[in-house]
Amino acid sequence: MPAYDLAAIRAQFPILSREVHGKPLVYLDNAATSQNPTAVLDASRRYYEEINANIHRGTHHLSQSATAAHEEARITVARHLNSPTPDEIIFTSGTTDSINLVASILGLAGHFAPGDEILISHLEHHSNIVPWQMLCERSGAKLKVIPVLNDGTLDLEAFHALLSERTNLLAISHVSNAFGTVNPVKEMIVSAKAQGALTLIDGAQSIPHQTIDVQDLDADFYAFSGHKVYAPTGIGVLYGRYKILDALPPWRGGGEMIKKVSFEGTTYNSLPFKYEAGTPNIEGAIALAAALNWINDLGLDAIHDHEAALIQQAAAALSTLDGIQLYGPSDRAASLSFNLEGIHHYDLGTLLDQMGIAVRTGHHCCQPLMDRFGITGTIRASFAAYNTAEEVSQLAAAVEKAASMLR
Ligand code: PMP
Repeated sequence: MPAYDLAAIRAQFPILSREVHGKPLVYLDNAATSQNPTAVLDASRRYYEEINANIHRGTHHLSQSATAAHEEARITVARHLNSPTPDEIIFTSGTTDSINLVASILGLAGHFAPGDEILISHLEHHSNIVPWQMLCERSGAKLKVIPVLNDGTLDLEAFHALLSERTNLLAISHVSNAFGTVNPVKEMIVSAKAQGALTLIDGAQSIPHQTIDVQDLDADFYAFSGHKVYAPTGIGVLYGRYKILDALPPWRGGGEMIKKVSFEGTTYNSLPFKYEAGTPNIEGAIALAAALNWINDLGLDAIHDHEAALIQQAAAALSTLDGIQLYGPSDRAASLSFNLEGIHHYDLGTLLDQMGIAVRTGHHCCQPLMDRFGITGTIRASFAAYNTAEEVSQLAAAVEKAASMLR
């Protein structure tokens, strides 16, 4: 395939050739869910057609094949994240599940005493807010919030002022799903660690757009969802530093997470199985590995450059429209949020849908951020490896047309 052959890339996504309301689909809702290439669809299908069986402890051939494929998928994820060992890769159902897992086991371990602080930011998705609020309610810890500046970036001065020896955890998104802001997480982790805090990165929006090296980031935890990175829904990952996870208590009890069960007492399995009770999403893990192989074959740098060009084009085209308000900094990653004066985001989104253009409208699960900007929501166009400059032009033209219809 020649360098970044868009036609060849698009041909690998069957859904992209469908029509919506009689118009060719222009799919710009990738930050919510990305589409699956045939390499991923084939991996799912092959799993069910050839090796579907429950994993671990099976003596029969199918079970052993499924176990091998599932554990091979874990190795692929570990390699992708540059995790020192696959034992640090816990399969979950997604980012939300991963963050709740960390919040639950830290809570069970009594990691937070009354007055201890959990530091998050005003940019966070609800799934990186609510689990910590719930933990604060249970433990007496306090939630502290790094403010956001008007350009949609974090107030780093305030971040440094908020950090103290009371900060027990820094939990922040790598990339904002609402505004596309890329947070300087590596530097923030250095500062948090200097205060002895644990660090968790919500990687839901960074995993599809850039190389992630958990050793270089030095994060204790990194969470992501498969469906944001060309894999199916219902599979996700928690990377957790071995020494930390190994010392933390188990969470869900059941099959697989045990070493020996008796009515007198149960002993627990080692990592990663300690945190994987019950039958996992075997096919999902295998499909996720196929998706990671797919992006690596294409090259994350190439994907990043392609998406950066699209988002620049989109910002430039939309900024010429009357009454447009773009949110987030100009170096935003892959998600562009905007509003048009006097027009409700939902109305505009509905008209765009009629023209075959899929965008997301609303609060993007970031209600505190919307409140901060005095809005109820935005229209968000978000880009993936398969989007085209022509689609960006179609978006800009459709927004202009919809605005004239609504004004
Ligand atoms: N964090 C961020 C930044 C997200 O964009 C999302 C998904 N919109 C999540 C967390 C939650 O991911 P999931 O619903 O897959 O658990």
